[in-house]
Amino acid sequence: MNNGKVDFIAASCIDDYDPNSMPVEQARRLIRQYLVPVDSVEKLPILSALGRVLAADIISPGNVPNYDNSAMDGYAFNGDDIDSGKLKLIGAAFAGKAFTGKVGRGECVRIMTGAMMPDKTDTVIPQEQVQVEGEGIRFLSGAKPGQHRRFAGEDLKLGQVVLPSGHLMRPADLGLVASLGMSEVQVYRRLRVAFFSTGDELSSVGQALATGQVYDSNRYTIYGMLMRLGVEVIDMGVVRDDPVLLEQALINASKSADVVMTSGGVSVGEADFMKLLLEKLGQVVFWKIAMKPGRPLAYGKIGNAHYFGLPGNPVAVMVTFYQFVREALLLLMGNSQTMPLPLLSAICLDEIRKMPGRTEFQRGVLSRDADGVWKVRLTGNQGSSILSSMSAANCFVVLDQDCANVAAGTVVQVQVLDGLV
Ligand code: AMP
Ligand code: MG
Repeated sequence: MNNGKVDFIAASCIDDYDPNSMPVEQARRLIRQYLVPVDSVEKLPILSALGRVLAADIISPGNVPNYDNSAMDGYAFNGDDIDSGKLKLIGAAFAGKAFTGKVGRGECVRIMTGAMMPDKTDTVIPQEQVQVEGEGIRFLSGAKPGQHRRFAGEDLKLGQVVLPSGHLMRPADLGLVASLGMSEVQVYRRLRVAFFSTGDELSSVGQALATGQVYDSNRYTIYGMLMRLGVEVIDMGVVRDDPVLLEQALINASKSADVVMTSGGVSVGEADFMKLLLEKLGQVVFWKIAMKPGRPLAYGKIGNAHYFGLPGNPVAVMVTFYQFVREALLLLMGNSQTMPLPLLSAICLDEIRKMPGRTEFQRGVLSRDADGVWKVRLTGNQGSSILSSMSAANCFVVLDQDCANVAAGTVVQVQVLDGLV
């Protein structure tokens, strides 16, 4: 804590720093300066490590594969016999059942994919390219010495760094670790994220709505987005627009979590207390972004916890989460390979009206036409409270700060939501 003082130490190093209207890219860079990944680690069985971040390099304890083997079903022989055209068949090698005899010159062994290459053989001719004749085979086509042989260590070599610390475990990685025979991996502990919704108008699902109330939907979208990242969530429910209750909730949350997220109460209305409380309890780094939707977005620290004060409007919650919070959480989880969300170019079928001076994220539906061209159409009403048009979207159309009106037919950049949502 810093006794209520606003801390701009990191921020002040940035030219044209304006916490009142921070360009999107600058805000991302600024947040990154504050992020220190979790450091405690735990050992997990491979299957529990999906979506977790490695806390130590994985070093290969052996070669994968462990022995030279065949890449095809066919016949193994010595490559020096390549021009003989005819070989005598003396046995068979199966995956898991090696041929242990000797293969002399002019001889071959029937071999299945994955079976160990018999001693003195280095070449495999696929079964489709031979004719079986009496006691032997005849080549129907040419072959190259050494072909269709997989080498020991071709996939992974003894002593090699297979996966580096800081790597997020994906399905291929689970298999890769299993291919080494390891049953456990060391990962960083899960990040803890506490969140609550703020607002006197909020009612909870399952209750009747009183006049002037809306259901609290933000906690549900926030929960969904957090679960996709595999963090541990602490759902603190709804807190009324009462500065005493909000302060207490923020303090409790910051003591129990690495990251605190709230929705609502960050704009400039009478009941918008979150920025003032952040100033009182910790450090405010910025509270407004030059973007739409999502202009009011507070970021700061309360004690050791990072605080994201997301806007109240349901779509703004999701846009700010994907543009700022997601990357921050991945970095805090220890994922050192975190990348910005990739952009794809697509032809925009709708006209978009836009003022320069802020980045806009419009909800779109991306599709590929019969000619293979990617096209995007907007999902209709782009109001920041229209969650149905977010639900209908499969991408954001990203319009840079400097961009003005977009004519129909213009190529725009889109962020695909698939895999994120
Ligand atoms: P605020 O930022 O608190 O002024 O809220 C902006 C708008 O978002 C208002 O229309 C609120 O009713 C709405 N809102 C705030 N929080 C939620 C929530 N948890 N679920 C649904 N709508 C909300
Ligand atoms: Mg509110």
